[in-house]
Amino acid sequence: SPGQHLGFEYSHTGNPTRKCLEKGVAALDGAKCSLAFAWGLAVTLIITHLLKAGDQIICMDDVYGGTSRYFRKVTAEFGLETSFVDCTKTKLLEAAITPETKQGPLALGADICMYSATKYMNGHSDVVMGLVSINSEDLHNRLHFLQKALGAVLSPMDCYLCNRHLKTLQIRMKKNFKNGMAVAQFLESNPQVEKVIYPGLPSHPQHEVAKRQCTGCPGMITFIIKGTLPHAETFLKNLKLFTLAESLGGYESLVEFLAIMTHASVPKNDRDILGISDTLIRLSVGLEDEKDLLEDLDQALKAAHPSRGNCN
Ligand SMILES: *Cc1c(COP(=O)(O)O)cnc(C)c1O
Repeated sequence: SPGQHLGFEYSHTGNPTRKCLEKGVAALDGAKCSLAFAWGLAVTLIITHLLKAGDQIICMDDVYGGTSRYFRKVTAEFGLETSFVDCTKTKLLEAAITPETKQGPLALGADICMYSATKYMNGHSDVVMGLVSINSEDLHNRLHFLQKALGAVLSPMDCYLCNRHLKTLQIRMKKNFKNGMAVAQFLESNPQVEKVIYPGLPSHPQHEVAKRQCTGCPGMITFIIKGTLPHAETFLKNLKLFTLAESLGGYESLVEFLAIMTHASVPKNDRDILGISDTLIRLSVGLEDEKDLLEDLDQALKAAHPSRGNCN
């Protein structure tokens, strides 16, 4: 009868396929509930709508370029001030990350856990999606209201795809951990590489935190190639298996050049402070054969530094 639906009334509020995905993600996170959105940044947008003019946002300084752009260029216009801080240095953060458990952010004390499911959770580069998990009923109700009021919802087909891909999440992550570590170790021992930034390696400043909190370290690896911009460019042009593209967390290996791709909207001065130089390269190592990955990196590094490599 009018005004009484049978559980679903309009896709902003929910649909059966999305509900199924949201239940699955809540189970994965050990959360009471979860909500799915059209893209990762949409989750940031919805959560930000819990705030009002005059409120302050504290954001990691080393954050996704799109998040930085949103806080600097969009929310700033609405009277929300954002401070970008190095969260590895706050006592508050330390308090939240001390428990010796290898569980998700909710178990570590966070109120809200958000994802760009475009990345590892979907993992097949065919869906753009955001997810949020919460335990508090009040927060759930407020976010669900905003989901209905603001939209940014996704299609049942996208929910179906992500749901299906979640079934291989565990086995994909195991392979990601293995390939990521193999590539990180290869790069760290390579004479053409200046520095590798990978939490799975003891050389990373947060290695101990990663060991305590994570079940493994996947394929996100940042490194500095020796030399200058032309060396980085030659390396990138010579890669065959790695595709030069943004995004990350898919089954296929990608490489990107932060200064002119994902982080172009971070002001140059801030890029310098964060160490985003012309020789900083980011890999998203995928699920390919480990030997093929190492061979491809090896030949491209040799092409970038012909005089340093051996002559075969
Ligand atoms: C990809 C990404 C985003 C944006 O997610 P979309 O799904 O592309 O909107 C935000 N933050 C981080 C850390 C990301 O990696």
